[in-house]
Amino acid sequence: MNASMPDHADLSALAAEHGTPLLVLDCAELERRYRALAAALPGVDLYYAIKALPDPQVIRALNALGSGFDVASAGELALLRAGRVDPRRAIHTHPIKKPADIKAALRFGCTTFVVDNPAELEKFLPFRHRVGLMLRVRFRNPGAVCDLSRKFGCSPEEAPMLLARARQLGIPVKGLSFHVGSQSDGAATHVAAIRECAALIARERAHGSPLSVLDIGGGFPADYADTKTDIAEWCAPIAEALAALPPSLEVIAEPGRYLVAPAVTGLFSVVGQAVRDDGRWYYLDDGLYGSFSGQLYDHSRYSLEVIAEGPTSPATLAGPTCDSIDVIAEGIELPVLSIGDLVIGRTMGAYTAASATDFNALPRARIV
Ligand code: PLP
Repeated sequence: MNASMPDHADLSALAAEHGTPLLVLDCAELERRYRALAAALPGVDLYYAIKALPDPQVIRALNALGSGFDVASAGELALLRAGRVDPRRAIHTHPIKKPADIKAALRFGCTTFVVDNPAELEKFLPFRHRVGLMLRVRFRNPGAVCDLSRKFGCSPEEAPMLLARARQLGIPVKGLSFHVGSQSDGAATHVAAIRECAALIARERAHGSPLSVLDIGGGFPADYADTKTDIAEWCAPIAEALAALPPSLEVIAEPGRYLVAPAVTGLFSVVGQAVRDDGRWYYLDDGLYGSFSGQLYDHSRYSLEVIAEGPTSPATLAGPTCDSIDVIAEGIELPVLSIGDLVIGRTMGAYTAASATDFNALPRARIV
């Protein structure tokens, strides 16, 4: 257990007060991580990617620190509006948008959007006097757990053609963006992407595209297992690559996972137990359709703890729905648990509650 994590006594008290399933958000940890990432990337403005954990308390805490926000939908914009966030600190980064999404963002006052193809660019023709676009470029990264460049981004070779098309249409493009994929195993793809974008920007400036922003996306990792990433060390090659850019270039980033993942601890209760052919099964009040959805969508595994003590044997932890896919962990060593015992999940802030469903009309975990 890391020193900043809430201990078992505090967590038991919170479960008793609020009930389970519960996601406990530690705003002090969130603040520490925001400051650590900002220090590791000097001169880079951070825009929290709301999709990682679209929670009003997270927005309030980061807004107080001066963070910007990266939104991908009208629903995320609504969270910013409710949190009274200055729209000038919002960027819309979804490369594919309905016209209604564009209008909703403009009504809010967000004028920065991302595009990556001619059809999307043309959607901005009616709004060309009110927007500044960023062109998303793809850089494949086999070392990322979620390689987002399979689905989004033009190739570096296509970028000049798209920028020329934008100039022809009179639509201002103010910068380039990329996302090397989430939970990247190292900074090498960021560095290669920064260098390639810098070269593109220099060439395009000569052709009359006044590109002044580089958005280096997310991908900064969280520690799910027993690792302890030093974020300053992890980002050092990125900071070095950024230091070589012209000072006139504004650099921004869109961190999601790194900020929120370790700031949330999950609390779940054993609600049922059975002995089956393969050993003991414990049924929890949350599972793959709820806060553990990241095990499916985000390919994450959360480290689990129990408070109960005693000799252990292999057991299965299952979720509360009627579906047989809803199994959280199999063959894990656990002491004998009783109904009502707590199971604690660490590093459960990113892409957990965000992708939870209401399947079986079960309530989602509360966040406190
Ligand atoms: N920005 C965009 C456009 C994304 O799609 C994502 C994640 O999917 C993020 C930022 C956040 O990335 P991460 O959680 O790796 O920091």
